[in-house]
Amino acid sequence: MVDNTREMEVREKVKQLFTEYLTKRKHRKTPERYAILDMIYSLDGHFNIESLYTLMEETAKFRVSRATLYNTLILLLDAHLVVKHQFGTMSQYEKCYDQVTHHHMICTQCGKVTEFQNAQLQTDIESAKLSRFKQTHYSLYVYGLCSKCQWKQNMELSRLRRSANKALGNSGEKGKKAVVNKRKQKSIK
Ligand SMILES: [Zn+2]
Ligand SMILES: [Zn+2]
Repeated sequence: MVDNTREMEVREKVKQLFTEYLTKRKHRKTPERYAILDMIYSLDGHFNIESLYTLMEETAKFRVSRATLYNTLILLLDAHLVVKHQFGTMSQYEKCYDQVTHHHMICTQCGKVTEFQNAQLQTDIESAKLSRFKQTHYSLYVYGLCSKCQWKQNMELSRLRRSANKALGNSGEKGKKAVVNKRKQKSIK
């Protein structure tokens, strides 16, 4: 219940911030834009335009075109209410107001993104002295292989090893036979 209240507070707060932003920039305050913001803040984790579009289509009261979605995302990025991530070749978005600092592990094989928290890393980065630079926020991406892909890779390696051993074993046999044949030839002479 406590978490729910907190979430509702955040959703109200971002609405207010978005209103301030739209007013200041003289953008129209359309119900679609607020519906998109609200949808984003009801989500956990990352999304892309397609997954957000599908969600809006399924659950929102408004039919929102991809163009509206895209334009609203640009406004939300500019208003610092959403961040964009570039995970390898994929662009993904995430709400960012009042969120716990987290880092990302990205599998270079299947593209899976996992969030993690590390207090030590956070302290180190936030307390780093940067020359003539005021830090506002940061992203940390750690690239590698997820457990599934590591398992697949190990399976593939042992399969390759097995077939390599088989191939070596066969040529070994052939080699032996060849030697035996030579010997036979010699003895015939
Ligand atoms: Zn993977
Ligand atoms: Zn994230």
